[in-house]
Amino acid sequence: MVDDSLRKGIGDIKPYIPGKSARDAKLEFNVESVVKLASNENPFGPSPKAVEAMKETLKALAVYPDQTSIELREALSTRLGVDKDCLIVGNGSDEIMQLAAATFLSAGEECLISENTFSVYEFATKLFDGEAVFVPLKDYKYDLEGFARAVTDKTKLVWLCNPNNPTGTAFSQSELDQFLAKLPKKAITIIDEAYMEFAETGGFPESLEYVKKGKNVIVLRTFSKFYGLAGLRVGYGAAKPDIVKYMNLAKLPFNVNRLAVKAGIAALDDKAFAEKTKRTNSEGKKHLYAELKKLGVAFQRTEANFIFIDVKRNCDKVFMEMMRQGVIIRPLASFGFGEAIRVSIGTGEQNMRFIEALKKVLRK
Ligand SMILES: *Cc1c(COP(=O)(O)O)cnc(C)c1O
Repeated sequence: MVDDSLRKGIGDIKPYIPGKSARDAKLEFNVESVVKLASNENPFGPSPKAVEAMKETLKALAVYPDQTSIELREALSTRLGVDKDCLIVGNGSDEIMQLAAATFLSAGEECLISENTFSVYEFATKLFDGEAVFVPLKDYKYDLEGFARAVTDKTKLVWLCNPNNPTGTAFSQSELDQFLAKLPKKAITIIDEAYMEFAETGGFPESLEYVKKGKNVIVLRTFSKFYGLAGLRVGYGAAKPDIVKYMNLAKLPFNVNRLAVKAGIAALDDKAFAEKTKRTNSEGKKHLYAELKKLGVAFQRTEANFIFIDVKRNCDKVFMEMMRQGVIIRPLASFGFGEAIRVSIGTGEQNMRFIEALKKVLRK
C-alpha cells in the first residue's frame, strides 16, 4: 500500500475517461467496420502537407528539437499577429493547461471551473492542490455572470472553454469583456479555444486582443482537431511575455518533438485542407440538424465540430447500442449529463451512418 505516501492532490484526481477507440469496438463488440465519432477528430486525417513535412523531418530525428519550438512560434507569430515571445508550444494544449497550474497555482487557491465541461481543468487544478469551485451552466452555456459571482480574493485561475466541450455553445466578446473586468488583479484566465476554427456565428471573442493588451489571459489552441493532428500532440498558448517566460520555467526542456513542429508549420499553410475541413463541418452540421429534427430529438446548435444530443434515456445504454451498430459516440455521463451523447461531425457518409444507427437505437 502506497496510499499513505501520496501527495494530497493525487488522491482527489479521477482518471480521464477517453472516447472508445476503433480497436475497442472491434475487440469488445466484434463489429467489422467502425465509424469513430467520439473524440472530435478530423475525419480527413492529418493535413497532407503536414504528412509530407514529417517525412522530410525523419532524417533529423537524431538531433534534439529546439527547446521552445522556435520555428513553429515564428510561423504562428506571422499567422496570428502576436509576438513570438507571447507564444508557448506544448505537447498538446493539455500540457499547457498543466503548465499554467504548475506555474501559477499554490495549494488552497481557488480555481473557477464550469460544470459540464472538459475534465482536464479539474485535473490540473487538483494536481497542484487548488480548490475547484464549480459554476453551473445556464441553458447549456457558460454562465459568465455566475463565474463573476463566484470570484473571491482567493481566486487564482479561471478555466473557460469556448466553444464548450461538450455542449458546443460559445460565449461572446461582450460577455467575456464584462467578466474579465470583474476579476482581481492576480487572477489568470485560461481561455481554451480548441474548436475556435469551426465557429461560425458572429461575435466570437477576439481573445488574442487581450494578450496584445497585456491582460492576465492565456489563450489555448490546438492542432489536434481542425488540423487533424491529435495523435501527434501539439498545441499552443498565447499570453503576455511575462506569463510565457514563467511557464517556460515549469516546462520540460524538449516537450515538443521535431515532427510536431514541422507538421504544425505545414498544417498552418495547408489552405486547401483547412477549407475542406471547414466546409465539410459546416455542411455536416446542417445535415445533422435536419436529420435530428426529423427524428424529433433535442440537440444544441454548435460552434464546434460536434453536436450535443439530448437522448433522454440512459446514455451508456445508447452508447452500447450504437457500438453494436459500429458507430462510436461519446456518452456524456462523465461530463455530468446522464442522458445525453456527443457526436463528432464526420464526412457526409459517416454522418449518415450515425443517423441510421441512431434511428434504430432510439426506435427500441
Ligand atoms: C480536444 C480538446 C483539447 C485538445 O487537447 P490537445 O491536448 O491539444 O490534444 C483541448 N481542450 C478541449 C476542450 C478539447 O476538447
